[in-house]
Amino acid sequence: MIRLEEVKKSYQLARDSWSDALQNINLSIEKGEYVSIMGPSGSGKSTFLALAGLIDRPSEGKVWFGDKDVTTLSDKQRAAIRSQKCGFVFQFPSLIPTLTSLENVMMPKTIAGSYEPKDEGYALSLLEKVGLKDKAGHLPYQMSGGEQRRVAMARALMNEPEVLLADEPTGALDYENAMMIMRVFKQLHEEGKTILMVTHDRELAMEAKRMVCLEKGRLV
Ligand code: ADP
Ligand code: MG
Repeated sequence: MIRLEEVKKSYQLARDSWSDALQNINLSIEKGEYVSIMGPSGSGKSTFLALAGLIDRPSEGKVWFGDKDVTTLSDKQRAAIRSQKCGFVFQFPSLIPTLTSLENVMMPKTIAGSYEPKDEGYALSLLEKVGLKDKAGHLPYQMSGGEQRRVAMARALMNEPEVLLADEPTGALDYENAMMIMRVFKQLHEEGKTILMVTHDRELAMEAKRMVCLEKGRLV
C-alpha cells in the first residue's frame, strides 16, 4: 500500500547547513495494516508521516503509494491522491470556529466541491461513530478539547480514505477521550482501513498490530 525505499529527508537550516531528519528508511505498510510509529520527540515521526501521506517529498529515495511512485508526480497530482485516499488526524484539531461540528465534518466534501445532500447522513453517522451524534449542531467553542479532537477524526473519515494517518492523536488528552479515540482506531482497523499512527507513548503504540521505532531519524 505505502512503501518507503532508501528514503532520506534533510531540512536546510541555513545556506550551508542541513539537518538530517530521516536516513535509510525502508518500510512497507500493507493494505489493512495497523502500524504505530514510536519514538522520542525529534526522532523524525512527523517527517515520516508527512512523507507517507504525500504532504512532503523525500530528499532522496522513493515513496510508493499503491503501484505509483509518487515522488515523480506533480504537486497537483499528489494533492489529488492525498485528498481521495488519505485522512489526517493531527494533535491540534483545527476546526473552523464558525461552523457546527456537522459542517466541520462535511468540510472535505465542501472543499472538493463534491458535496451532495446524502453526505449529511454520512457525516452524522461518522459523528455517531465517535460518540458525538448529539453534538452535531454544536460549535467548537461549545465542546471540550477531546470532543473537538473526535470531530476532527470524523472529518478525516468523510472522504472514505483508504489510509488514516494520525500524528499524536491522543496527545495531551484526558484518559477517557484518549481511550475513545483508540477504540475508534481499533474499529476502523477491523473494518479494513490502513492505519498509521505516530506516538511517543509506548503503551498507545502497543495497541497497534505492528510497532516501528524511530531513533534519531533511523528505524531501529
Ligand atoms: P518528531 O515528530 O519525532 O518530534 P520531527 O519529524 O518533527 O520529529 O523532526 C525531526 C527533526 O527534524 C527534528 O530535529 C526537527 O527539529 C527537524 N525538523 C522538522 N521539521 C523541520 C523543518 N521544517 N525545518 C527544519 N528542521 C525541521
Ligand atoms: Mg512530531
